[in-house]
Amino acid sequence: MRKFTLTFFCLYFVAIHSFFILLLPVFTIASANPDLVRKSLKEFETLATNYYFSEDERKDDPAIVNNQNLYDVIHNNISLSFDIKERILIGNVKMTALNLSDTLNKIYINFLDNMNVNSVKLNDADINYNRKNNYIIIDSKNQLSKSKEFTVEISYQGKPLNEGFDSFSFKFIEGNICIYNLSEPNYAPNWWPCKDILTDKFLMDMIMTVPDDLTAVSNGILHSESSSQDGLKTFHWKSTYPITTYLVSIAVSKYDKWTETFYNKDSSKSMPVEYYSFPDYTEKAKIDWGVTLDMLDFYSEIFGEYPFINEKYGMAMFGWVGGAMEHQTISSMGYTLTTGDRRYENVVAHEIVHQWYGDAVSPATWKDIWLNEGFASYGEALWEEHLNGSKALFSYMRKEDYGGFSGTLYNPEDNLFSTTVYQKGSWVLHMLRGTVGDSTFFNILKTYYEDFKYKSATTDDFIKVCEKVSGLDLKYFFDQWVYKGTGRPEFEYSWKADPFDGQSSSNAYMIRVNINQIQKDYDLYKSNLRINVKTENGNEEFVVFNDKKNQVFTTTVNSKPVSVTLDEKGWLL
Ligand SMILES: [Zn+2]
Repeated sequence: MRKFTLTFFCLYFVAIHSFFILLLPVFTIASANPDLVRKSLKEFETLATNYYFSEDERKDDPAIVNNQNLYDVIHNNISLSFDIKERILIGNVKMTALNLSDTLNKIYINFLDNMNVNSVKLNDADINYNRKNNYIIIDSKNQLSKSKEFTVEISYQGKPLNEGFDSFSFKFIEGNICIYNLSEPNYAPNWWPCKDILTDKFLMDMIMTVPDDLTAVSNGILHSESSSQDGLKTFHWKSTYPITTYLVSIAVSKYDKWTETFYNKDSSKSMPVEYYSFPDYTEKAKIDWGVTLDMLDFYSEIFGEYPFINEKYGMAMFGWVGGAMEHQTISSMGYTLTTGDRRYENVVAHEIVHQWYGDAVSPATWKDIWLNEGFASYGEALWEEHLNGSKALFSYMRKEDYGGFSGTLYNPEDNLFSTTVYQKGSWVLHMLRGTVGDSTFFNILKTYYEDFKYKSATTDDFIKVCEKVSGLDLKYFFDQWVYKGTGRPEFEYSWKADPFDGQSSSNAYMIRVNINQIQKDYDLYKSNLRINVKTENGNEEFVVFNDKKNQVFTTTVNSKPVSVTLDEKGWLL
């Protein structure tokens, strides 16, 4: 909420300007009543809070991370099968990596200690290993040389711990099994051994063998599908674009499947858009997901070509009841969000936007998570604007303003998935747009995607793109909204108007607006501020740059002013 208040400052103003003054009553802009979607998001946040805080939350040892970064993962070949009755996962992962160092004597692989490891091979030969603190530690016995590739193959089985949001589940939903994962942020090692470092992307083959009445879905393209005589079916998926660990997805269930075709802008490329729904929900899903092609068209237009155009986009229903997850090329959609009335259209949009921001461009660290969630959330607002115009954008953003946000947007230590990360993150992009203007803003989004696609980015990387494209020094902007400030500006202001001297024949008035920032959290918020003047003849808007705590702006209007408001549309938190 933003409070506009008038205090003793007005009395001071009255004393020195005697012509006439209009005083505005104290008022507050209240946040809109939450509709169902808002409610669901709030529930999501509650769930996020409940699930994410865990005493077992992983704290990486920097020395081990440094050691892991002595090698670069190139490829993971993951083969899985399932004992559904016993809820056991049986797996084999063969990692191909490049040795970057002369000193790689120990290879650390993240994998939870509760899982049973049957064998570990280095370059196809059995090798000794230890297990400690959820790592498999392989002694390479000086077999590895710098700049050479090596392979580590681990075969394992066990009951994956279900932590985080819903990191790995065997769940029966209305009588049908659904096996799925949601690894974000760092629960991939609960179910497959990997170097779980965000910035090390790799290519992947995912091969799943399941009972032949089930469909096994994953990232990338379906390379092959084969049946065996013992009632099993093997699905082989291939990711030919780099992917990071938390975006690896499996979804296995009795799915209805249907497909559409997406064409890029000049129709030179096409890809399948694949939908996988629980049979009981198919009718509703066909309605709710019926907007996908239009969304892909729209976002490709404003962000740049869909990042995984040689593979697919897809949605697969899964059993998490807290929301949806933007797995690369295959978003997992909570079945409870499928209502048949497009109530959660914003969630469909949100996950599609993540394919650009989150998946193709991934955060370099979890401190940068707003680069995922702020972008996907603002993407929802852009879809609203696209459908219903500018007014809809501002009203969407007003709903996104939950009033109070806590902590800084960068490094949100208390909760990676809070309203600060999502809604304030979205607002920061909206305010950036209000600062640099539409064409520069959309140019920034495109350039950031183009410069960092298939890689990872930090907040500083994004700021550099903003400054490069806009030609502006934006340090103050990101300091106050992302790195340091935790609140928002609160203004008190007054105004005074006089007939414009020397032009007595015209109706022009000179207006002086005196603005005072009174917030406590941050000394001075600098911003483009819209001053809206309602006159006897209509409305006029002036954009000023407010960069002092107390500042007077003077301008002329074409007829007698009736009222003055600040930031009427809603460009500022
Ligand atoms: Zn998201």
